[in-house]
Amino acid sequence: MQYSHLFGPVHSRRLGRSLGIDLVPFKTCSYNCVYCECGRTTVKTVERREFFPIDEVLAEIRAYLSHSPELDFITFSGSGEPTLSLSIGEVIRFLKDSYPDYRISVLTNGSLLWRSDVREELLPADVILPTLSSVFDDTFRKIHRPVPVISAMQIVEGLECLRKDYTGEIWLEVFIIPGINTSPEELDGLRAAIERIHPDRVQLNTLDRPGSEDWVRPASPGELEEIRSFLGLTGVEAVEPVQYELSAGATMPGEWSDAVAVVHEMIRRRPCTLDDISVSTGLSRREILKILREIQSGSIIEEKREDRGIFYFCPE
Ligand code: SF4
Repeated sequence: MQYSHLFGPVHSRRLGRSLGIDLVPFKTCSYNCVYCECGRTTVKTVERREFFPIDEVLAEIRAYLSHSPELDFITFSGSGEPTLSLSIGEVIRFLKDSYPDYRISVLTNGSLLWRSDVREELLPADVILPTLSSVFDDTFRKIHRPVPVISAMQIVEGLECLRKDYTGEIWLEVFIIPGINTSPEELDGLRAAIERIHPDRVQLNTLDRPGSEDWVRPASPGELEEIRSFLGLTGVEAVEPVQYELSAGATMPGEWSDAVAVVHEMIRRRPCTLDDISVSTGLSRREILKILREIQSGSIIEEKREDRGIFYFCPE
């Protein structure tokens, strides 16, 4: 089956082996983050819609999970902000009712959590992973370039409301961009907000693959450690780089043409190294190179060299 709304499983630095569900079209988001690994936002909006017929999404989930794959999480994420989808609540409930053994997570930028209907729809999820990178409007806008109606304080208030309503785990992502949100004033503001929100974990994240803007540089492990110790709070951790184990559980069922489609879909969504693809698919580097050549015969693939190696991606 050709999947349009599922991707991976990918080896996520924060969630382990994770099957992605994408409920919004590329690239529909309320933000246009300078570090976005999916590239620049083309439809910037806060209007919630049912972007795809929900039956189409449920049919793909049924087909994929009929293989009983081993997964750490099923994650709502992808090429935009998942809470913009009016279907998210129904799809989460379907998963919890029909596949209760799988853990459900939602990667969200948090921009719609001030809305009680959005919070309500996310309640059955096991883990919600929202982002908060600055409590100052200027910095917030510089990093996330949101739709103008969203403010930093609205994000903090939405997260506080989520904490009151939600009994699952909140893993708050703070995306660190050296020189932008790393001053003592910025970190003091974040500390105060974290104390109000009471997340279960705070994950200091940084650039791991090419972002939207070339001037964004990753924080080094030493810089992340300094920030962690400056914050001085319990439950704060730096997101570790992916540890590659090339034998990590292959779940690529079936045909070579399936493998080509899966790899094509991965690099269409975000830049990936050979190791990223190998860990997610279980394919060897040699096989992946063969697949990339095959994809290249019909589509454009670009390469970009970064610290972690060569990233392959399909330009928009
Ligand atoms: S990183 Fe997330 S929130 Fe930011 S633009 Fe990309 S999809 Fe949207």
